[in-house]
Amino acid sequence: MTATVAAYVGLGANLGDPAQALRDALQALRSLPQTTLGAVSSFYCSAPVDAGGDDFVNAVARLDTALDARTLLQGLQAVELSFGRERPFRNAPRTLDLDLLLYGDAVIDEPGLEVPHPRMSTRAFVLLPLLELAPEVRIPGRGAARQFLSAVQGQAIRSLPPAPA
Ligand code: ADP
Ligand code: MG
Repeated sequence: MTATVAAYVGLGANLGDPAQALRDALQALRSLPQTTLGAVSSFYCSAPVDAGGDDFVNAVARLDTALDARTLLQGLQAVELSFGRERPFRNAPRTLDLDLLLYGDAVIDEPGLEVPHPRMSTRAFVLLPLLELAPEVRIPGRGAARQFLSAVQGQAIRSLPPAPA
């Protein structure tokens, strides 16, 4: 059996029905090759930080994957595209944003692929769902993820109740 890596993916949407977009995106993540969807956080509702438009719905998923980081990111981008995401300008409202937050304990700094995700430790909508899934998780090169919580406490965010089955 191929060894797998625990990769954490941040999901966000703020157009249309964002919670439904996230549920559909999770289904799409299940279809990635050589990858299983290991765990999904609660959904969170957050006010846009640098982006325009309505509130975001965010979540974090753990993928157990045998794909390398670059191939995984390409898979995430293909899912984003299939949701009709357009990028008319930076931080535009988006149907679906998928960020590769962590890929095991890898540190990658290449054009188009930075892991850990450079902005993950300053965003409540990443840290809260991530720590819900993995309270002990470490951000390679930066230390325990939970130490960054206090700095994001001013950011408006609340967890949403689970969707009815
Ligand atoms: P944001 O970082 O706010 O989610 P975008 O989704 O618009 O911004 O950024 C997408 C760009 O970031 C893509 O060109 C992609 O190649 C690059 N990128 C670099 N590292 C990552 C990563 N870890 N996860 C997702 N996109 C990344
Ligand atoms: Mg992104």
